[in-house]
Amino acid sequence: ENGRTPLMAGNWKMNLNHLEAIAHVQKLAFALADKDYDAVDVAVLPPFTDLRSVQTLVDGDKLKIKYGAQDISAHDSGAYTGEISGPMLSKLKCTFVAVGHSERRQYHGETDELCNAKVKAAFRNGITPILCVGEGLDVRKAGNQVAHTLAQVDGGLKDVPADQVESIVIAYEPVWAIGTGEVATPEDAQEVCGAIRGRLAELYSQELADKVRIQYGGSVKAGNIAAIMAQPDVDGALIGGAAGGAALDVDEFVKI
Ligand code: PEP
Repeated sequence: ENGRTPLMAGNWKMNLNHLEAIAHVQKLAFALADKDYDAVDVAVLPPFTDLRSVQTLVDGDKLKIKYGAQDISAHDSGAYTGEISGPMLSKLKCTFVAVGHSERRQYHGETDELCNAKVKAAFRNGITPILCVGEGLDVRKAGNQVAHTLAQVDGGLKDVPADQVESIVIAYEPVWAIGTGEVATPEDAQEVCGAIRGRLAELYSQELADKVRIQYGGSVKAGNIAAIMAQPDVDGALIGGAAGGAALDVDEFVKI
C-alpha cells in the first residue's frame, strides 16, 4: 500500500440552503454509519453560508465526515467586501478549502498567482488546500494537457515550503469533464495525476511526492470510480454538484 488515505470530497457548488445542508449531512452520516469507511476520508464542501450548520452537526454528533469551503480570500482580514478569510474558515474548523476550481478560474478570473496566494492563506490558517488544476478541451485536443496542468501546479505552489506542501491535496480536474457527463478514461486520469506526482518529486522530493494525495475530478459516478481509483496515482475524487451531480445525491455519493 502507498500509505495515502483516499479522499472523497463532494463539492456542492452553489446548491442547497442551510436546512437542506443539515438534512444532507444527516442523511450522509446515517448512510455511512453501517459502512466501514475508516480507510477513506469523506468530506463535503458546502457554500460558506452552510458551514456553521455543518460544523454544529459534525461537532455535536462526532461525525467522521470532514468539511471545508469552496474558496478562500488571499487576505486574512481587511477592506475586501464580500470575501471570506482563512481565519473565518479556521474558526469554523474547516479541514479543507478548494483553491482555483475551474469555475473560479473561468468565471472569476483567478490566475495561478492568485491561487498561489490562496494556497498560502489556507496553510497560514491551518487549512488544507485542495488545489484544483486541469486543462480545457482546446488544450486536450492539442495534446498539451500535461504541460498545461504542470504549469498550474508550479504556479499554485510557488514558494510554498515542503513542510506545508506535504499535506496539500491536488485535484486534477480536466475542465471538459466537469459537469459534462464526459469522464476521463482511467488512463487519461493516470497520465496527468502521475505527471503531477512526478513534478512534486522534481520540485521537492520523491518522499514528499509519495505523501501527497492527488484526486481526479470530472463526472465521477458510482459506475466509473472503481477503474479510476485503481490507477496508482489517483488517491480519491472531487465530486461535483452540477445538475444531477453525484455530490448532491446522497445514495450515489455513498456508493462512490
Ligand atoms: C467539480 O466541480 O469539481 C466536479 C468534478 O464536477 P462534476 O463531478 O459535476 O463533474
